[in-house]
Amino acid sequence: MELILQEESTSAKSMKNCHRIMMETFGDELKLIGYWGPVQMNVFNLEYRYLPLDYKISLDCERGFITIQAQNKDGEIFWPLMIFPEARYYHFADVEKDILQLATLMRKAIKEDLIIFEPSGTAAYANISQKTKNECDYCSDVKTVENFLIPREYEQCIEYIIKDLIEKKGFFVIEGNCPIGEHMKDGFWVKDIIYHTIKCPECGQVFTCIVNTYRGGGSFESGT
Ligand SMILES: [Zn+2]
Repeated sequence: MELILQEESTSAKSMKNCHRIMMETFGDELKLIGYWGPVQMNVFNLEYRYLPLDYKISLDCERGFITIQAQNKDGEIFWPLMIFPEARYYHFADVEKDILQLATLMRKAIKEDLIIFEPSGTAAYANISQKTKNECDYCSDVKTVENFLIPREYEQCIEYIIKDLIEKKGFFVIEGNCPIGEHMKDGFWVKDIIYHTIKCPECGQVFTCIVNTYRGGGSFESGT
């Protein structure tokens, strides 16, 4: 399959560039099997088959951030950031060295047999650490996140805060700059910086979830 994009937008340019780098990195062991986009806010996807081992490799771009993942036949997932600390930062679709790094690390993981597949849905939590600072028994197991690597991790964290902490454990929101869970409107982030502070109902310890939707980065940690 060939990548054919009529438009000349910045997103289309990034997408073509991503595809070129993938093909240059992997050579004829990689075959494009599907793609979509670019759509608004620099969202697109490129899907490949890695022929020697029958893995599916997807390169996704969401609001200008790119991620790469491999999937085996059982649907299990591998992301380079699971084993390469140098992959743990934001990768931008319009930065050539970012694309090259993801493609190269993916190839290295495969070629050197370093790849570890995890069931889908768990990989995103690889960097979650547990904090035990001032918390009481009730809130000491709150799953904090040092740095959101991709926008989806923020989404998952907010879902965890609402479903597990607020609905099940009775934590409550004491501050925030939009209603919690309503950070997107018509497909757009409501603000450049979005934050919420919640409180443990037992000991009063506060936790803050903050994200920079414009440049990336953010965390969910104890304190304000
Ligand atoms: Zn507590």
